[in-house]
Amino acid sequence: MNIAVVGTGYVGLVTGTCFAEMGNFVTCIDIDAGKVEKMKNGQIPIYEPELDVLFARNIKAGRLSFTTDLATGIQDAEVVFLALPTPPGEDGSADLTYILGVSKQLGSLLTDYKVIVDKSTVPVGTAELVNAAIAENAKVDFAVVSNPEFLREGFAVSDFMKPDRVVIGASDALAAQTMEQLYKPFVRQGNPIYFMDEKSAELTKYAANAFLATKITFMNEIANFCEVVGADVDKVRIGIGSDSRIGKRFLFPGIGYGGSCFPKDVQALHKSGQDHNYNFRILDAVMQVNEDQKTILLPRIKNFFRGDLQGKKIAVWGLAFKPDTDDIREAPALYMIRALLATGAEVHAYDPEAMQNVKIILGDQIQYGQDEYAVLHNADALLICTEWGIFRNPNFTAMKDLMADAVVFDGRNLYELQEMNQNGFYYSSIGRQEVLR
Ligand code: NAD
Repeated sequence: MNIAVVGTGYVGLVTGTCFAEMGNFVTCIDIDAGKVEKMKNGQIPIYEPELDVLFARNIKAGRLSFTTDLATGIQDAEVVFLALPTPPGEDGSADLTYILGVSKQLGSLLTDYKVIVDKSTVPVGTAELVNAAIAENAKVDFAVVSNPEFLREGFAVSDFMKPDRVVIGASDALAAQTMEQLYKPFVRQGNPIYFMDEKSAELTKYAANAFLATKITFMNEIANFCEVVGADVDKVRIGIGSDSRIGKRFLFPGIGYGGSCFPKDVQALHKSGQDHNYNFRILDAVMQVNEDQKTILLPRIKNFFRGDLQGKKIAVWGLAFKPDTDDIREAPALYMIRALLATGAEVHAYDPEAMQNVKIILGDQIQYGQDEYAVLHNADALLICTEWGIFRNPNFTAMKDLMADAVVFDGRNLYELQEMNQNGFYYSSIGRQEVLR
């Protein structure tokens, strides 16, 4: 099938590449000329594991191409995916400017029946708005489908190639059939394709993200309470996770959720509720708790240094909002770093993939190390913000030798309390006892 994907970010580029991998001919369209030029030269503009091999193979096979021109990009496509940003507007609602802007343009460009698929995360009712925006100028028939994406950055390729489920909101039978044909190769193991109305499909995505954000936040509250009463959240986590009604995943406490999806989607669902005179009280609480959680280690760090962080050297491990991505949108690390800088502390940070993106925002306000040990030289403390695999099993002796003082504040609970005790560290983590020396 001939496919066009408009917007080649984390979702669009993975979508386009994976459809090409299944033998489709895909044109990726992006407004960012620099990005398109890079991709034409075989370079991937984002970091996403496993994407490079598929990307190179499909370009070489002539199944994956790139353009900035919407008209030529969609010309031969039977299906046009919109994988455009839906950032939070000032009032927290999803900003539909990108989606509706491209939809308006599409109307006058359509010359034959095409299925226009909304892959972006959008509020209930957006398919109708997209339909109306295209219809303003369209002279031919078309169908609008809602097909929310559930991939996780860091696992995007495997999530897309083997999805737990595919959700298709379509009232047009022909469009539904086309979508089924496209997705069939991805669900050969028997995972379901759920067909539903557009509104239910749109809400499914928000409900999934809001539920996961709530699950994390619930666990963060339990962790905070563990500290108050002297319980160990790791034990509680394992204790509840083996109940199949609860499940083991998404129970890890930490310094809050971040990223391009959870914060904005929880906010947008909450705003959607308000727009329909419905008050999502649970989401209010989730947003408030998460806001506090992002800097929950700050008072502890201040307390440790008796309120004076001026000139203290704090090493930071991890900048990305989670491991295996270079995405720093709403990353808790940035909140912590800004708070530390405000106290007069010096920050020396290392992240395997995200430093380039942080340099664009923070520039030389902080120092960047070439590896995780380089930032530890003479550090008064280490703060861990992202649970990258390479931080999980460090050489504690080397760390102690490098640091001015063996002090670790761990926002991701990477180490056992006992091992930190044995290695002579002061160690403060989330929802567990403080390790004193
Ligand atoms: P992104 O910011 O990484 O990519 C968006 C791309 O669209 C950019 O490359 C940008 O240049 C391009 N673009 C903007 N305006 C354009 C236009 N007029 N024409 C062509 N291209 C244009 O965004 P993303 O993370 O891929 O997210 C896209 C959507 O998918 C959002 O709604 C998001 O909520 C949703 N989503 C994201 C993820 C994720 O993990 N990132 C997962 C599921 C769903």
